[in-house]
Amino acid sequence: AKDEGRNRSILFDPSMRSALEQRLELLRDVRAAIEADEFILYYQPVIDLESGSVAGFEALMRWAHPEQGVLTPDRFMAAFEDQDLSLKLGDVAFETALKQMRAWLDAGVEFGRVAVNISAAQFRSGRLAEEVQERLARWGVPCDRLTIEVTETVYMGWASDVVSDTVRKLHAAGVMIALDDFGTGYASLANLRQFPIDRLKIDKGFVQNAEDAAIVKAVITLGGSMGMKVVAEGVEDQDQLEALAAYGCDQVQGYHFSRPMPPERVPGFVDGFVG
Ligand code: C2E
Ligand code: CA
Ligand code: CA
Ligand code: CA
Repeated sequence: AKDEGRNRSILFDPSMRSALEQRLELLRDVRAAIEADEFILYYQPVIDLESGSVAGFEALMRWAHPEQGVLTPDRFMAAFEDQDLSLKLGDVAFETALKQMRAWLDAGVEFGRVAVNISAAQFRSGRLAEEVQERLARWGVPCDRLTIEVTETVYMGWASDVVSDTVRKLHAAGVMIALDDFGTGYASLANLRQFPIDRLKIDKGFVQNAEDAAIVKAVITLGGSMGMKVVAEGVEDQDQLEALAAYGCDQVQGYHFSRPMPPERVPGFVDGFVG
């Protein structure tokens, strides 16, 4: 009876049917856009508070849509939830970031490290560590120029042992591991110790809510005592920055310094940045 009810709603609920159609249409458009090389990366600076210099950049995917302009991931999130497309977009992100790093290395641009976001789908093959190392070697980019950002949900979700094995190998090779969106999922302190995590990224939701100051402060203390650097994302104003600095936060990222920018703007940003 339960199944019958579900089938009926799929077949007869017009709003649901159109949501399904919209999703399929988006997935079709994304597939075509990948073929047409319309997915690009923007780069947002990460600032080191102690040295006041640019520590690196987070690579964030954008869709350079021929009619609608540059779209942010909220417009194509469904693609990241599709196993096949998520893998393809992951490939695009890695290749684009590595090609860009190669160009910056050749041009002497001091970009620090580039952080690439990884989705759950990319861990499925069980060969991600090898694939990443092969790509780095192919582009001649040293391992210590790369950070991978993995969300708490991915760490704690599907096949946690595959994820932990993969990040362990990458960490051993010199790739930095960042735990993204910390505090939004259900990672416990005990879980944290199972993974070689170099960076804890505090979600912007906490950073931007003054009522969460005690949480932010506690995370910074915790990270420090576990030997991790703590990065606060979503820093939009001077007050937030000063509070974070007072708590001993290591690195910050947010509109206060810069929005994500196209790669052409990175060399000028690095040269002109006075922390
Ligand atoms: P995220 O990894 O948590 O990235 C941080 C998001 O916060 C980015 O949104 C960034 O533009 C935004 N942000 C940075 N500073 C500020 C600020 O001061 N204020 C506000 N309001 N927002 C700020 P974006 O670029 O729209 O990306 C959204 C999400 O899409 C990312 O969240 C990440 O989960 C996902 N994503 C982006 N690129 C990739 C990718 O190449 N692969 C995968 N798997 N996911 C990606
Ligand atoms: Ca991220
Ligand atoms: Ca984040
Ligand atoms: Ca986030």
